[in-house]
Amino acid sequence: MLYVNEDVVLTFEDGTKVKRSWLGEENGQAILAKRTHLAVLCRCTSAGVPMHVVTRGTTHHISSNPNYAHCHALSCPSYVEEATTTRLSLYADAAIKRFNHRQHVVVENEPSHTRPMSHMTPSALLDYLWELSGLTVCTPKTVRSRTNFLVSESLRGASEFLTINGSPLVAHIPMTRNRPGFTDGNWVIGQISKAKRGKYDNRITLTGERTPLWVSQSAWNQAGLSSYLGEYNQPILDKHLWLIGKLTQTASSNYHVHSIGLREMNAYFLPCYEHVLNISDMIENNQSFKVCPRFDSLSTDFPDALLFEEDAPKHLFFD
Ligand SMILES: [Zn+2]
Repeated sequence: MLYVNEDVVLTFEDGTKVKRSWLGEENGQAILAKRTHLAVLCRCTSAGVPMHVVTRGTTHHISSNPNYAHCHALSCPSYVEEATTTRLSLYADAAIKRFNHRQHVVVENEPSHTRPMSHMTPSALLDYLWELSGLTVCTPKTVRSRTNFLVSESLRGASEFLTINGSPLVAHIPMTRNRPGFTDGNWVIGQISKAKRGKYDNRITLTGERTPLWVSQSAWNQAGLSSYLGEYNQPILDKHLWLIGKLTQTASSNYHVHSIGLREMNAYFLPCYEHVLNISDMIENNQSFKVCPRFDSLSTDFPDALLFEEDAPKHLFFD
């Protein structure tokens, strides 16, 4: 469910039209080699985004003209979020690194107190997974058909590209196909259906999963789970609560979850924070937009959502 459209058409100054997906192939390279001096328009938006051909060694690529990378459609492979619109720009390079097609993320329970931030909290990691899965994006066509199963499959797809603190993120996601079972040291990602307080320990149950997970008093308090006590198979005030956490097997073969991150999602599985009504209105009005995740920052310098318009996205501030 990653919203990347490899079939976007490029138009060269000489009138040649090529699909993005052809470029990596032999013919595509030959087309680019003959047109290194020509301007290119990416047709992902109706206005088109200016690009040019770049030659590295013997291969040719296309690159956005300076200051245009954020003007591509969000589904375009060339789209790069502007640093001014994403709180990801607040993290140090070492906190989120990309190499070998993988995203390497440093995660710690306590928020980073350094600037730039040295790591993500588990809640920010959940936001990041949502972003990588394309689930922060709402288009009228896709958002109404989202189901717990589709969302879980998207999360599974994105989690396969993540490395957390040096180890691949192997996650138990209840609604997915071919899911691994609960395993010591693995992560779990799911929608909470029950949060119950016990005399000594607390338990949560995830939608689509029978076995409850135990939560120690300290992990419970740290995650603020008390505000979500209860049994709810129906969303509370149209919100669902999602959890990510790390599993530990106890001597009695039960599983404890710790390093807990939580996020509230609306009925369409969009992160909503306290903007449920604003987001609902936009969905009602059939608007296409992207929610800007908070990660670990409440800074109001960043927009709460980006509204996709004909050309560059419009920054929306809900407060
Ligand atoms: Zn584009």
